Amino acid sequence: MTPNPGQPDFVPKTLVNPPSGGGSERVLVRAAMVADAHRSHTPGAILMSRHDGRWRIEEVGDQTEIRIPEDVEILDLPDRVIIPALVNAHTHLDLTHIGPIAHDPEEGFVSWVDIIRAGRLIDPDEIARAVRDGIGCSIRGGTIAVGDIAGAPRTELTFAPALELARSPLHGVSFLEFFGIGKSCASAIERITRFIAEEYDDLVESMSNPNVRLGLSPHATNTVDVDVYRFISRAAAARGIPLTTHLAETLEEREFIANGTGTQRGLLDKVGVWDDSILDRVGHGAHPIEHLAPVLELAPYLCAHVNDAPERFFGVLRETGCSVAFCARAHSYFGHPAKIGRHPYRAMLDSGINVCLGTDSIVNLDTHDRIGVLDDIRHLARHDGCSSQLLLAMGTINGAKALGLNTSGFELVRGNTPLGLLALPIDPGVPDPWTGAIARDEAPEWAVFQP
Ligand SMILES: [Zn+2]
Repeated sequence: MTPNPGQPDFVPKTLVNPPSGGGSERVLVRAAMVADAHRSHTPGAILMSRHDGRWRIEEVGDQTEIRIPEDVEILDLPDRVIIPALVNAHTHLDLTHIGPIAHDPEEGFVSWVDIIRAGRLIDPDEIARAVRDGIGCSIRGGTIAVGDIAGAPRTELTFAPALELARSPLHGVSFLEFFGIGKSCASAIERITRFIAEEYDDLVESMSNPNVRLGLSPHATNTVDVDVYRFISRAAAARGIPLTTHLAETLEEREFIANGTGTQRGLLDKVGVWDDSILDRVGHGAHPIEHLAPVLELAPYLCAHVNDAPERFFGVLRETGCSVAFCARAHSYFGHPAKIGRHPYRAMLDSGINVCLGTDSIVNLDTHDRIGVLDDIRHLARHDGCSSQLLLAMGTINGAKALGLNTSGFELVRGNTPLGLLALPIDPGVPDPWTGAIARDEAPEWAVFQP
């Protein structure tokens, strides 16, 4: 059975009844705190009215400031923080069947890639099932929009994840992943050319969902030749096709691009695509961001990770209009804080780069039943002590911008229709509600779900 948008197995239980038939025309939610990317109210309240079958915001503010209309239904949540539903800008829902796996960072990144290659599904029905599970996990994690990588088993473009995402209530982009380096350069260009010319429009039409776009993902600088990147970027820019790539993720990538050596070269050898022409483009001392800079000038990319990012390259990312999807828990899981150093996301934000949050796949998460950036927000709040507004900006509007979504569904202001509202439990005894909310480990509850 294939679920359709709004089908019960994807629709979570909500604390506020959906505005359909019979019930009140208005609802007032009062909570310990109401917060979005711009401001927070403690204790806060949000007044919504029914409009075209959805809840639309009439007022948001401190509880003492909000008028209480006569005919309103009141929901008191004194032990909850209300925030907008979240955007996960980088994930791999087609790996959900693998589940979380413990990993020793000392074993290196390529040994982990081997685990993923061995676990990757090939059958489209099985891939679709994994993506469905991932959509369910995402919604349990408080996610309403995703940038999902549709992986390429046996290096074949695979449509099943995009079709599955389009059948779900989630918004976002399904990015079709591909490889192309050394011996596989010519076939990659030929395949993508044919895809854009002959298959793209049909696939978009069969997705028939205005909330999910179809993008492309050249995998990474160590698996895609810069000439293939150039070609794809021009072709995608001409058609307005969104692009993402993994960039500056590991030290192995840095070594490969700078020297043409290391375990990433070994991997290309192992899969049979290495040829010495690769050394025309890599092995000349460049950093991965420097290496990709001429490509980023052709089209704005959503760059995943960017863990290895010296400040001298911030200008390239900013001026080319790139966004960075920082996968905070993945960064720790792979041991990057010790290997590469702390992620410079705050300095990137200060310099004007649009930094959002991603989870990467469930394989590297510490939450076995859910996929969402709420747990990355908690991770960053605990480790770095960032403000609620900064973290909520990265988890909502910055992700929306990176995926080309309208930000109004994530901003709690009068006149907006939120795509969803989450209710986060608070640790009792902690005086500040936000501190109390990030101290907890449970899944969020949905107060409102109206994608
Ligand atoms: Zn990834």
